[in-house]
Amino acid sequence: MRIISLSALQHYAFCPRQCALIHNEQLWAENFLTAQGNALHERVDSGEPETRKGVRFERSVHVSAEQLGISGILDMVECEIQTGKLKPVEYKRGKPKPKPSDEIQLCAQALCLEEMTGKKVEEGALWYMQTRHRHPVIFSAELREKTLQVINEVKTLLESGITPPPNYSKSCKACSLIDLCQPKLLERDKSGKYVVGLFWE
Ligand code: SF4
Repeated sequence: MRIISLSALQHYAFCPRQCALIHNEQLWAENFLTAQGNALHERVDSGEPETRKGVRFERSVHVSAEQLGISGILDMVECEIQTGKLKPVEYKRGKPKPKPSDEIQLCAQALCLEEMTGKKVEEGALWYMQTRHRHPVIFSAELREKTLQVINEVKTLLESGITPPPNYSKSCKACSLIDLCQPKLLERDKSGKYVVGLFWE
């Protein structure tokens, strides 16, 4: 079974075409926003493990869940020393998004920790650089179901080897692959073919 990376889930939730371009076609381009995000992750990753007020903070934690078929590196896992409770924390450069893509990525991290430790992970947190706020995320039954659905959809997409056509939207402006994807140009091509089909085929 192909093991998919946790980042593929977030890419898929952002745009399925972006997910296929990165994870099947191996395309990647850095723009200002991804560079800023990478710098943030480097800062987070460079910290040593530490313990404060009964909580141990582990950074850059590698996880792999074979039953789910996903693996990745977690920015941070907090562990309550007395209870052993684990809490994944993910750092984001922007602000909370209208779509729950960050919550899905975080919930997938929790599912990995659960498979690896056999312990329930009830909540985690997202920390946004732009708003400088930490948002608690409860791993509800609904969020878990949605996350499992996305994991299955990503597997189906990547196993199909098919890259979906572009669908130009507001997200494209923040997409690091816009120059490689050419969403407006390809959409124009699609409408050109449609007109040709109507009159000449
Ligand atoms: S430019 Fe738009 S359509 Fe193309 S991969 Fe990025 S978000 Fe998706």
